[in-house]
Amino acid sequence: MCHAESRKIAIGSNSLPSGADMGNKKVCYYYDPEIGNYYYEQGHPMKPHRMRMTHALLAQYGLLQHMTVLKPSPAQEKDLCKFHAEDYVSFLRRITPDNQQDHLRQLKRFNVGDDCPVFDGLYSFCQTYAGGSIGGAVKLNYEHCDIAINWAGGLHHAKKCEASGFCYVNDVVLAILELLKFHERVLYVDIDIHHGDGVEEAFYATDRVMTVSFHKFGEYFPGTGGIEDIGVGKGKYYALNVPLDDGIDDESYQSLFKPIMRKVMEVYRPGTVVLQCGADSLSGDWLGSFNLTVKGHAECVRFMKSFNVPLLLLGGGGYTLRNVARCWCYETGVALGVEVDDKVPEHEYIEYFGPDYTLHLAPSNMKNKNSREKLDRIRAKVLDNISRLPHAPSVQFQERPPDTEIPEADEDEDDNKDERKDPDDDVNVDYLRETTPSRVKMEIIEPDAKDEIEMELDKGVRETDESLNDIECLMNPTLPTEAEAPASESLHTHVEEENSKNLPEQPEDMQHD
Ligand SMILES: [Zn+2]
Repeated sequence: MCHAESRKIAIGSNSLPSGADMGNKKVCYYYDPEIGNYYYEQGHPMKPHRMRMTHALLAQYGLLQHMTVLKPSPAQEKDLCKFHAEDYVSFLRRITPDNQQDHLRQLKRFNVGDDCPVFDGLYSFCQTYAGGSIGGAVKLNYEHCDIAINWAGGLHHAKKCEASGFCYVNDVVLAILELLKFHERVLYVDIDIHHGDGVEEAFYATDRVMTVSFHKFGEYFPGTGGIEDIGVGKGKYYALNVPLDDGIDDESYQSLFKPIMRKVMEVYRPGTVVLQCGADSLSGDWLGSFNLTVKGHAECVRFMKSFNVPLLLLGGGGYTLRNVARCWCYETGVALGVEVDDKVPEHEYIEYFGPDYTLHLAPSNMKNKNSREKLDRIRAKVLDNISRLPHAPSVQFQERPPDTEIPEADEDEDDNKDERKDPDDDVNVDYLRETTPSRVKMEIIEPDAKDEIEMELDKGVRETDESLNDIECLMNPTLPTEAEAPASESLHTHVEEENSKNLPEQPEDMQHD
C-alpha cells in the first residue's frame, strides 16, 4: 500500500463506536525464546518464566501458526533515550550484580535494588521487552498487522529517571511515542490491578494521548490514580482514573469498563489503542486482590478489539504464573478470533495446571467490596469527565520524526545481516513531565511455601507541576512520504544476540560511594 493511503487511513481511522467486530485480524506476536531465562532474584514475584509458559501454551494450542511470530530486535540505547534520561539508561547498561556494591548512590538515585533488583542480563532484558513493544508499534504504523502482541511488555511503572514496581524501562511510553509519529491520537487503556502511573505521568499534559487506568486504589502500590486526577494543561480531561476496591468481579468490572470505554472511543476517536493486560487483576493473584476470571479479563480485549482500531496488546503484572499463562493464551485467542479449548493440552508445563488442567478459572468467594452504589458513583463521575472533552482534538501535522527501526527476525530465520540505519535522534523528549519521584517502600518476604509472598506497600506520593509542560510544541509528527518510508521487508533482519555477560567493565561515569 502506498503511504499516502496509509496517511489517509491513519488520520481517518475513527471507527464507529462499539462497532461490530469485523472478523479476522492479522496478528503479529513478539516473543524472544531467551525471555524466560531472566530471573529477578529468589523470592521475587516477577518471573519472566511466565512468558515462556504462555508461549508453550500458545504452541500447544496451535495458535502460533495463525499469527506472525517475531523475535524482537533489542531496543538500543538511543531508542530507550527517547523517553528515559541518558544517565539512567547508561546506568542500566552498566550495572551488574558484581559491580553494584560500588554504586550505592546511583542505585538509590535510580530506585534500583529492593523491588527492582539488579540481576544478570538486566539491560538485555529491558532491551528485549522494549524492543517487542516498539517493534509492535512500527508494525501497526505500517499496517503490517491489525493487532500486535508483546506479552513481555506493559511495564507501566518505570519513570524517566527511575525504576519502579518491577519496571526498569517503560516500553509502553516508548511504543506510544512511536505510534504518535503516525497517529494524531493514541488511547492507552490499563487493566493491571496497579495504576498505570508511569504512562499517565509521561502524557499527563497532552491531549495527543489519552490514558485510562482501572485499578485498585487506596493503601496500594503505587498510591496514585485517584478519580480526581484527570490531567493538566492541554491534557486536562485526557487522563482518566477508575479507582476500585478489593474483590471486584467480572460483572462489576464490565459495568464500568464497557460504558466508559465506549464513550471514550466515541468522543476521543483514537487512531490506535494500546491495551496493557496486566494479569494481576485476576482472581487468585499472589499480589492482587481482585476477583476477575480469565473470561472477564479477556472481555476487555474482546471489547477493545471490536472497535476495529489498530491494537497493541501488552502484558504487565501477573504473579500467579499458571493464571498469567492462561490469561494471555486465551487473550491471544481472542485477538485471533479463535476460541481455545478449556482443557489444557499436554505440554512441558502441564503440572502447573493441576488438578483440573483447565484454562478457565472460577472466581473465588471473596467479598466484592465495590458496592453497586459506589460503582454507580464512579461511573457517573468518569462519564461526566469524558463529557467535558471536546470531540476528537486534532493537531497540526508537521514533519514526521524518523521511525525507530526495530528490525526483527522470524523465529526460524537468522541468516540476514542486521542492516539497521541509525535513526536520527531529533525527537525531543524534554516535554515529558518532570515530577517528584514516587516514594515507595516495598518489603519482600521470602516465600515459605510455593512462592507465597506478602508485600507491604506504602502509598506513593506524586506531585504534579502544571507549569512544566507543554507537549504540543515539541511533538512534530507527520506521516511518511513514500520516499522515506522503509520497505517492510527491510525490517526483517538478523537479530544480534546481546550477551549479557559482556557488559563493559568499570564504567567511567559511575560514581563510587
Ligand atoms: Zn500490576
